Amino acid sequence: MALMNSMKVTSFAHFRKQLKTVWAQQQGAARPCSMATCTHRNRNTALHPLWQSELSVPGGTRQSPINIQWRDSVYDPHLKPLKTHYDPSTCLYIWNNGYSFLVEFEDSTDKSVIMGGPLENHYRLKQFHFHWGAINEWGSEHTVDSRFYPAELHLVHWNSVKHASFEEAIMEDNGLVVIGVFLKLGAHHAGLQKLVDALPAVKHKNTLVEFEVFDPSCLLPSCPDYWTYAGSLTTPPLTESVTWIIKKTPIEVDQDQLEEFRMLLFTSAEEEEKRMVDNFRPLQPLMNRTVRSSFQNHHLLNIETRPSAHTHQSSP
Ligand SMILES: [Zn+2]
Repeated sequence: MALMNSMKVTSFAHFRKQLKTVWAQQQGAARPCSMATCTHRNRNTALHPLWQSELSVPGGTRQSPINIQWRDSVYDPHLKPLKTHYDPSTCLYIWNNGYSFLVEFEDSTDKSVIMGGPLENHYRLKQFHFHWGAINEWGSEHTVDSRFYPAELHLVHWNSVKHASFEEAIMEDNGLVVIGVFLKLGAHHAGLQKLVDALPAVKHKNTLVEFEVFDPSCLLPSCPDYWTYAGSLTTPPLTESVTWIIKKTPIEVDQDQLEEFRMLLFTSAEEEEKRMVDNFRPLQPLMNRTVRSSFQNHHLLNIETRPSAHTHQSSP
């Protein structure tokens, strides 16, 4: 989740001071994974300024992202369908925060909310963004049975019933809900194209353009199935405030659309160009957590014919 930078710039310096301890304790992303493929894919992200810190002490018991082991997820018949009510007019602007591009929404009222699913009340949409790889073999933050998708969408919502602001909710248990949607290579995605067309205008870090009237529900798969688990932000401050809802079915995008993501830059106009790719956090240990599914696990029937997948988790 590229969440940190969606906070108002004016409040950020103060907020950062408050978070210093949490940040130091939970910063663990530069830690290389022992898997060969993982080491390779982490080569670029380990150096990103977002993750530069004098301390890299692993911590926390519910960090994200994780590998979702399909056969270990537990069907919960009490999980309701997730409902989204997004008002396209609440879309405000799109900007490059130096780690991803974010589409921000007006969140002073309950015009764009989600409810149902595992949630006790509704949550307001704050922003959405993506994570992606330099090539198609990786890019998502979560994995399913240790398999990566080329990209992952995160729709970030906050609990406006219990909290006064996004900045407050970010620090609290159940403060945030993030919907994760995998992107796979396939058909051209017409809804995504409106976003893609805006990307050249935010090529450099800290650039922003108006982006009005957009309904992000066009980026959700029609299949209602999802997994849910208790986790964290995947960017500093890495607070353990997130109820994750990971959609089972990916959406399809075409190669040209993914390539437009990769044309963005981590860097500002004055800096040496660095392509915005591999902007994801490595997998974190599941520890004592259960991933629940909203759907029955027919996947078990196929398990004997599948190649055995290694456990692709970071060591605790
Ligand atoms: Zn994200």
